[in-house]
Amino acid sequence: MLEMPEAMTIARQMQDTLTGKTIQHFARGSLVHKFLWLSKTAEEYDTILSGKEITGADSYGRSIYLYVGEAHLLWFGELGGRILYHLQEEPLPAKFHLRWDFSDASAMTFNLQMWGFVSLLERSELAKHPYAEVGIPPLSDRFTYDCFNQLLEEYPEKTKKGIKGFMVTSKHINGIGNGYLQDILFGAKIHPARKIPTLTSDERRRLYTAIQDTMIEAIKLGGREDERDLFDQPGGYHRFMSNQTVGSPCPNCGTIIQKMSYLGGACYLCPTCQV
Ligand SMILES: [Zn+2]
Repeated sequence: MLEMPEAMTIARQMQDTLTGKTIQHFARGSLVHKFLWLSKTAEEYDTILSGKEITGADSYGRSIYLYVGEAHLLWFGELGGRILYHLQEEPLPAKFHLRWDFSDASAMTFNLQMWGFVSLLERSELAKHPYAEVGIPPLSDRFTYDCFNQLLEEYPEKTKKGIKGFMVTSKHINGIGNGYLQDILFGAKIHPARKIPTLTSDERRRLYTAIQDTMIEAIKLGGREDERDLFDQPGGYHRFMSNQTVGSPCPNCGTIIQKMSYLGGACYLCPTCQV
């Protein structure tokens, strides 16, 4: 799944590469995915998009916005997969779910993994959309330590679910999923199942700092090594705690890194460092 560093990387590349291009045609690919949601029919997408110019791109947490004409945008919501740009002479991938052709004969395809939505909205609709721009992106001006602490306190399931549940739900902090969560909790030395009321102020500070440090580093490196950017290049961020490092020694203490299933998805952790 794309998290904030990947969304920022792709949005920046879209801004630099796609701005000024005119969409000639939109279509679904040969692949069908029942967890890919569009906000209108593919024919309506084509009618609205065709002939319009890309006017820029931006991101918010885990979302990417591609602005089309003066009034519309494509909202790549919380999703996994590959959004890829193809030069004129490049062959398209064998399989994809969505396709945009540009008038200069370049193209963009999207191949969904897991689930996600690509909504076509008027810009004025975005502001009213119940799922748009919820939560606070880490590194934004609003994401101060006091704000973070307040979000922790207001988490309605703080006595039921561990810190993982809070961290990966975008309506609190918008930008972090199960990928970066592992390294953030490792950096903060906190176990994913710890309940918020048990976290000391020291631990909350460590968690806040680990969020900031991990996001800054991952943005600098263009995202995770197992995700791809607009040009099909992997990111440069190698996770300390992942399916690649499970069974290896913890870089801090040498304890073997463990995998555990918790709240719908695997966690990777050092059982000695993270308590
Ligand atoms: Zn350790």
